[in-house]
Amino acid sequence: MGAMLKFVNHRVIFFHWFNMKGNPLNSNLDRRSFIGKSSAIVAAAAFTGNVIAQDDAGFVLPKLPYAYDALEPFIDAKTVEIHYDKHHRTYVSNLNKLLAGNKDLMKMDINQLVSNISKVPEAIRQGVTNNAGGNANHILYWDVMGPKAGGNPTGAIAKAIDQSFESFDKLKEKVNQAGLTRFGSGWSWLVVDATKKLQVISTANQDSPLMTGNTPILGIDVWEHAYYLKYQNKRADYLAAWWNLVNWKAVSDRFGAAISKS
Ligand code: MN
Repeated sequence: MGAMLKFVNHRVIFFHWFNMKGNPLNSNLDRRSFIGKSSAIVAAAAFTGNVIAQDDAGFVLPKLPYAYDALEPFIDAKTVEIHYDKHHRTYVSNLNKLLAGNKDLMKMDINQLVSNISKVPEAIRQGVTNNAGGNANHILYWDVMGPKAGGNPTGAIAKAIDQSFESFDKLKEKVNQAGLTRFGSGWSWLVVDATKKLQVISTANQDSPLMTGNTPILGIDVWEHAYYLKYQNKRADYLAAWWNLVNWKAVSDRFGAAISKS
């Protein structure tokens, strides 16, 4: 871990940041990771494993915005480590492998790619659905959780929740029910639909709400890999505990962006 390695890491991070400038990335996770203070860049450079090795283009695994143990006791450090560093990383690397040779698709913003999945050549469409969806879904998942989070929503998002679901408690029930009744692997979501209304939906596998014209603003991964080490078969307990981690600032920002989107 000498000065040389640190220097190399700086180069890698700046290299990817410049690559990504052509792909405006929407999430707070990406903004926090790549834009702003030099201290953030230096801190990012201290993590050696977090930038995926790539050739000269393609999608990158954004840095996790907190430590692996930051979500304890609700999600254990080992689960976060495997989930981020193995599962999420694999979606990103498989996506780049699938898109090799498709420069136009490689250059797209991940959410644009997922929103335009029908334009992906049929031969690779299912693979891109799984792996671009997996990448986009996990970027959102890490972003809408955080340490010292939870509590009640405030401001415009709180008002919209009350209007659509009567109360925050009713929303929680609905999201948890959608996650609990998703058979097999998938996600439970709070989305802004095409008419700008809030809705709770669930998707199978790594399908993204963007694939059906809905903008996700909160999402809970209900694949067993998200909770099994700590909760085993008790998905309901994971869902109940998850709300202690919800980052309302991130959800509010996504809500604001979704309702002002043309
Ligand atoms: Mn997952």
